[in-house]
Amino acid sequence: MPKIIKAPRYGKTVRDRYNEAVRKAKATYECPRCRMKRVRQVMAGIWRCRKCGATFTGGAWTPRTDMGSERRVLPPSAK
Ligand SMILES: [Zn+2]
Repeated sequence: MPKIIKAPRYGKTVRDRYNEAVRKAKATYECPRCRMKRVRQVMAGIWRCRKCGATFTGGAWTPRTDMGSERRVLPPSAK
């Protein structure tokens, strides 16, 4: 077993993955509607384009995932 220094529930691999995820979440992405690179994360899984105002769901950390769950555009009332 590798030596556990602190926070035994969060090993190096998990921490690295978390950092990677946060870095992706802070980035801007291309809007599926207007193609401008203005999509920012609103919260986990919710993304909004600051150019055209489109709000859509996607991956928790990136707008599009390998699962192909992007482009389910929410109605304007949804926050
Ligand atoms: Zn847009």
